[in-house]
Amino acid sequence: MKVVVLLGPPGAGKGTVAEVLVDKGFKHISTGDLLREQIRLETPLGIEAKKLMDAGQFVRDDVVVGMIRDLMKDSGADAKFLFDGFPRTLVQAEKLDELIGSLGATIEHVVQLECPAESIVERLIGRRTCEKCGSVYHVTFNPPSNGDVCDVEGCALTQRADDTEETVRKRLEVYAERTAPLITYYEVAGLILKINADQPIVDVRADVVKALGKV
Ligand code: ADP
Ligand code: ADP
Repeated sequence: MKVVVLLGPPGAGKGTVAEVLVDKGFKHISTGDLLREQIRLETPLGIEAKKLMDAGQFVRDDVVVGMIRDLMKDSGADAKFLFDGFPRTLVQAEKLDELIGSLGATIEHVVQLECPAESIVERLIGRRTCEKCGSVYHVTFNPPSNGDVCDVEGCALTQRADDTEETVRKRLEVYAERTAPLITYYEVAGLILKINADQPIVDVRADVVKALGKV
């Protein structure tokens, strides 16, 4: 089993980088996407999560860890997981270590995407996504080739409810307080690969693929 974690503030480009790693056989697991699916299905978990997500706050650790546990429990020895937006707190990081340890694996790399706050606000306000296939676009930096419909599915793109300037600023505060400490946690473990994410998408993707080498 191979496990790679994408770490970085909201809008750093985790989902955008994940798209190329999926082509290399990774199963992309975004806790944000999993939670939005629960919201779409109007499950009790989704209804609770929506209030927190719209306010830029985190969903409870036990809820997200439970989702990851369910996804990993029946995976084979050759599975390749790419985590995007998980772990986001020290408790989640410790639980992930326990979980993959119990499956006889360890984290191979933590790819840290570094991007300043000024770039992030502009990126998130212009983000558009396809609810059907999860493709991520930007009105200026990565527009779809055909008007405002998804290149893959041909359906209309949507803007996320939490991609407003006010909520983005709140999310950046929560990131600094609760997620940034994970950088030291993984540096101590010798797992961090730092990537400059404040450059054009093609260059960020190429740097990540190069840094990961043959994984
Ligand atoms: P972004 O990468 O733009 O921050 P995500 O789609 O990863 O967005 O997450 C959207 C929201 O979902 C977060 O702001 C948070 O409310 C919730 N969320 C996603 N992953 C987690 C997690 N691991 N722990 C707690 N909350 C999470
Ligand atoms: P995250 O998953 O970290 O929240 P996304 O991959 O969803 O980030 O990217 C956020 C927005 O920024 C999207 O609209 C995406 O098209 C755009 N984006 C991603 N990487 C870059 C980049 N290197 N330069 C400019 N825009 C980018």
